[in-house]
Amino acid sequence: MAPDSMTIRLHLRRLRVLEVLSDAVERLVVAVRDSRRVVRCPHCGFLTAKVHETRRVEVADLPYGGRPTTLVWHRRRFTCANCTERHTESHPEIAGKVTRRLARQVVRDAQVMTIKAISHRYGISWWLAMRTVRDWAELLEAERRRRRCKVLLIDETSLRRGHRYVTVLSNGETGEVLGMVRHRDARALGAFLSAQGRRWCRGVQVAVTDGSLSYRSAIHRHLPGATHVVDRFHAVRWFCAGLIEVRRRLQRLGPKGTNPAFDPQVFRSRYLQLRRLDRLEGEAIERLGAILWRYPELEVAWRMVQHLHGIYLAEDAEGANEALGAFVELWEEERFPEFDQVVSALLNWGEEIFAFHDTDRVTNGHLEGRMNKIGVLKRTAYGFRNVRNLAARTILISPAVA
Ligand SMILES: [Zn+2]
Repeated sequence: MAPDSMTIRLHLRRLRVLEVLSDAVERLVVAVRDSRRVVRCPHCGFLTAKVHETRRVEVADLPYGGRPTTLVWHRRRFTCANCTERHTESHPEIAGKVTRRLARQVVRDAQVMTIKAISHRYGISWWLAMRTVRDWAELLEAERRRRRCKVLLIDETSLRRGHRYVTVLSNGETGEVLGMVRHRDARALGAFLSAQGRRWCRGVQVAVTDGSLSYRSAIHRHLPGATHVVDRFHAVRWFCAGLIEVRRRLQRLGPKGTNPAFDPQVFRSRYLQLRRLDRLEGEAIERLGAILWRYPELEVAWRMVQHLHGIYLAEDAEGANEALGAFVELWEEERFPEFDQVVSALLNWGEEIFAFHDTDRVTNGHLEGRMNKIGVLKRTAYGFRNVRNLAARTILISPAVA
C-alpha cells in the first residue's frame, strides 16, 4: 500500500477505500468496498456476513485531482447462513459501470458537449458515455410518458439532413419531448399512441400537426376525442408559397444569363413582402408600398396573403371566416395559378386551420423551438445514425435537465 493512500477521500457514502492501486498522472485507480460487513438476505431477511466470493468490478468515477478515476469495486457475493441462498450486493452510489455522481455529470455535459468529448474528459469509452446518457433519458422518458398530456404536438425531423425521418412527440403545455419514433407516417404515430394506451389517449384534447396527411388517419383512429389543429406556422408557410411564386414570375426581367436577370428591388424585398402588415413600421411600409405600386399583381397577391394572416389574427372563428371570405373574393377575381396550391390546402385543411380558434389558439411554437435545438444538436454531432441516441439527447435538452 502506498504511504499516502489513506489521504484519498472519495466522499462517497458507504464506500471504504481499500488501497490506491495506481497513482499515475493520467489515471487514478482505487480499490473500494462497501463499508457494511453485515447485510440482509433478500430471500429470507436474515442478517449474514458470510462472503461466498468477491469479484472486482471497474467503475468509473468523477475525476480526482483532475485525473480520470477508476474504482475497483470489490463486489461481494454472500451466502445466507439461514436459507443458504446466495446473492450479489448492490451499492446505492454505483449504477452499472459508473458512479451515480459521474452519471449525473455525464448527463449534464451531454446537453452541451459531444459524447466523444465527454468520453475523453472522464476517461471512459464512447459506448459507456452514450449508454449512461441513454439510460438516464429512458427513465426521464418513461416518467414523462406516464403523465397525462392534454396538448400533443406532433412533428418530424431527420437523423441527417434529408433522410431517415423520425416523428417527434411533445407535451404542448410543458414543452417536454415525450419521445421519438422512426418514420413519419400514420403507422409510426399509431405505434406510439397504442403504446401509450387508451386511457392516456382519451386524455389528449388537442393534437397539433404540421399538416402532412400521413398523421391524420392515426389521429382519427387513436385520438377520437381530440381536436386536430394544423400548426399555425406551417399554415402560414402554405399561404406565403403563392405570393412567392407570383413574385418569382414578376421579378424576371430577361432570359437566364442576362444581367440583371431579376428586378433587384423586388428580389431584395422578398422577406418584407411576407411580413404581416401589423408587424411593419413606417420606413418598411414605405419601401414595400413603392414596390407594390410598381407591380399591381404583386400587390393583389400581397393583399391575399394579408387576408390569410387575418384568419389567425381574428379574435374568433367568425372573424377568421370574414378574413377567408375576403381572400376568396380576391382570388375569384384574379385566379393566379400560383395560388391553386394555397386554395387546395385551404380546402383540405380548413377544419384543422380554423380549429385554432376552438383550442385556446395553440400552435407548435414550443415544438418549433425544440426543433431548432435538435438542429444544433445534429450539427454538433455531424448527424445521427441511431434514432435512440438522437432521442436520448433530445429528451435531455427539452427542456434542459439540471
Ligand atoms: Zn436467507
